[in-house]
Amino acid sequence: MIMFSPEIAEDDITEYSALVESGNADEALESFLESYIVPMSQRFSTFLQNRVSLAGDLLTAAKEKKIKIEISSAMTGFKDAYTNIYSQFVNDIYGDAVMTSLDVTSPQVREFIKKDTIAKFIENTEQRLAETDIKIRTTIREMQQELIRNERDLTKFENMAGVLDSDVAAFKEELYARLQERVPDFYKMAEDGNFIEYSDGTMVGIDTYNEMATRTTVLNVERNSVMMQDAMDGNRIAVYYLRDDRPVKKEREICQEILADEFYGESLIAYDEDAASLFDIWTVDEAMAEGAMGVNCRHSVRQLSEENQNRVDSLLFLAESEAS
Ligand SMILES: [Zn+2]
Repeated sequence: MIMFSPEIAEDDITEYSALVESGNADEALESFLESYIVPMSQRFSTFLQNRVSLAGDLLTAAKEKKIKIEISSAMTGFKDAYTNIYSQFVNDIYGDAVMTSLDVTSPQVREFIKKDTIAKFIENTEQRLAETDIKIRTTIREMQQELIRNERDLTKFENMAGVLDSDVAAFKEELYARLQERVPDFYKMAEDGNFIEYSDGTMVGIDTYNEMATRTTVLNVERNSVMMQDAMDGNRIAVYYLRDDRPVKKEREICQEILADEFYGESLIAYDEDAASLFDIWTVDEAMAEGAMGVNCRHSVRQLSEENQNRVDSLLFLAESEAS
């Protein structure tokens, strides 16, 4: 089976750690993506492409089964290596430095945030890969069924009286066009290497998806730290903002909705429902349920400016005194 580097090399750990400690955590993340996540995902994608391409010819049942098994075990190997180096990056290189810069000092809180970030990443990866495995199997099956149909139709055509060689050649082209029309996903996989399907049917490459998923989920360390800090300070509202301005393939609508509304120059998001309804804004939980701060989102939360913190606190205080 194919090999993936199961851990980050000693030299790279030293280099990334130095970057992170000098305040360049984002640079360390980019370098990690470029040296590990992207090449590893590309190798995996090439392997899948090779295997799926075999289904472009009619296969025996045994051969089809063998290909599917090889794909599933490669998925498992990839998942293990991918989640392993991700955990290593968050645990040993990135997490503590980011939390130090945000003044999160409690060892228990730090452990919790790192664990939570990794757990969410693994959950997302497992789900994505399981869906992709099913998608590939279905596509291989559909392709095989269409090839059988083509074979049958071709035999029928060839046995018709007065059929010329040139007619057969033209008919073969028709059959090929029919394949492309009926199993478009096969060609997206075998020719373009696009294996990951979004809910709207768009398909992207594994390297593109993993780079984005790694980058956006690593941000959870920072988001969780801010939220934890807010919780300890008793803050009920935070600022929602664009943390990373590189474009994403599929921006979440929820983010645009939150950002459209501003309170003295800052877009607000609430930790509790009462604060949310008083300011007519989203709660963090509601927003996350709509995909905010998940994969494909480069927005994050930060604490309010001092001025706005004072404004928000007085309004919340007034509302509370009126209520009682
Ligand atoms: Zn977003």
